[in-house]
Amino acid sequence: MAVSFTLSPAQQQLTKAARQFAEEHLGPLADAVRAEPDPLRRSLLARPVFEKAVAAGFLKGLIPAPFGGAAGDGVDAAILVEEWAAKSPDFVISMAGPLIALAPVYEVGTPEQIERFVAPFLADSGAPVAAMAFSEPDGSANFDAPPPAGGTLTVAVPDGDHFVVDGRKQWASHLPGWDGDGPDLMTIVCRTPGGISLLVAEREHLAGHVEVEEYLDLPGLAGCMTARVRLHGVRVPRANLLGQEGQGAALTRNAFVASGASIGAFATAAMREAFAVAHRFATTQTRGGAVPIIEYQAVADLLADAKGRIEAVRLLSWRALDAALSGDPAGPELALHAKVFGSETAVSVINDLVQVVGVTAYDTAFPLLRRLHEALAYPVIEGSNVGVRRRQLQAMLAAPGYDPLAASGLT
Ligand SMILES: Cc1cc2nc3c(=O)[nH]c(=O)nc-3n(C[C@H](O)[C@H](O)[C@H](O)COP(=O)(O)OP(=O)(O)OC[C@H]3O[C@@H](n4cnc5c(N)ncnc54)[C@H](O)[C@@H]3O)c2cc1C
Repeated sequence: MAVSFTLSPAQQQLTKAARQFAEEHLGPLADAVRAEPDPLRRSLLARPVFEKAVAAGFLKGLIPAPFGGAAGDGVDAAILVEEWAAKSPDFVISMAGPLIALAPVYEVGTPEQIERFVAPFLADSGAPVAAMAFSEPDGSANFDAPPPAGGTLTVAVPDGDHFVVDGRKQWASHLPGWDGDGPDLMTIVCRTPGGISLLVAEREHLAGHVEVEEYLDLPGLAGCMTARVRLHGVRVPRANLLGQEGQGAALTRNAFVASGASIGAFATAAMREAFAVAHRFATTQTRGGAVPIIEYQAVADLLADAKGRIEAVRLLSWRALDAALSGDPAGPELALHAKVFGSETAVSVINDLVQVVGVTAYDTAFPLLRRLHEALAYPVIEGSNVGVRRRQLQAMLAAPGYDPLAASGLT
């Protein structure tokens, strides 16, 4: 990103198109999701909107141009995430599966693998979904811990020119796919004889070998298809191994760099919507007094502090996503700041905005607590801040020769 903070005409157009799509389709979807109590039926509500997004070219917009897609730069990605997550963050998370699942394909895939694995997501119709099957029910923060103490429990046993995968996975969007027979593509983090490895299972390998144990009922990102599944006897050709056996831990960490940065944009979306609600309340409600409550200094201070923190997280997220997607060496550190600072700021800001509104906010029908429920997810998804992301920051800061100015390019 050149150092200009004015959106280009193309970015202004993207903002307009993304907002229009969100208002037309994602707002009504979010209302329908809130009204549906069953987690599976709720997640299936997204499918027709998914198809519209694919037809409008938004899925292709997630695939980088060198691999046949039409992705823009990191600021474009941040704009799209913010506009859509303002209406339905769960939809964005579900749709962004290929962003994480294909990242290791871009990094180490052979030309043949790239062509085969990316092809379903260049479609102009349908609703292709991908899952990055990393997290497991018994824990993920220590996924690279050596056995038998723990770590990744999903195993892939060599069998001729195949691996046979058995294990349980949880949390990744669309582990069951739309019909319970798996997504179009699942990148599986598993243990092979050579260590932690990544295998790509395609639909034909998964069908009949995915048992859904439970669809999870999330309080905030309720429209995500989030489940616990058992993979049993999934036969994946050796040709679907990404890179080398034992390379999977590093590839997995790299796969979550850009998605970590994107959490800052999700956090911005939740904060901006909450701010709009609280600001409207403060400028229009007197609560029985003589003046709108924004006339009280304490209320105005809460709003002003919230707005400043929203602006800070937005700019950090633009910078972090731009760096992460362009291969800037600052990307990994900035992505961690966007993830950790962005997610924790969102929880704090929205809690402050609840204080502005007062008890009226403590009603499910009032459009504020839902934003807190969304924000509460951000410190714990995409690698929890405590178990994963702060440890990554610790490792960077403790590394010999760490340069505090490098992330800003001021060396
Ligand atoms: C909507 C949604 C979408 C998701 N999408 C995906 C996805 O696409 N793919 C995917 O694989 N997962 C996904 N997840 C799961 C998510 O990425 C989690 O952040 C990930 O599983 C790690 O969780 P955790 O760190 O809490 O791990 P756990 O292993 O469950 O750790 C739990 C807690 O233990 C503590 N802890 C454990 N080990 C340590 C340690 N070494 N040091 C310090 N503290 C420690 C920390 O407090 C940590 O938070 C998703 C989850 C949700 C809700």
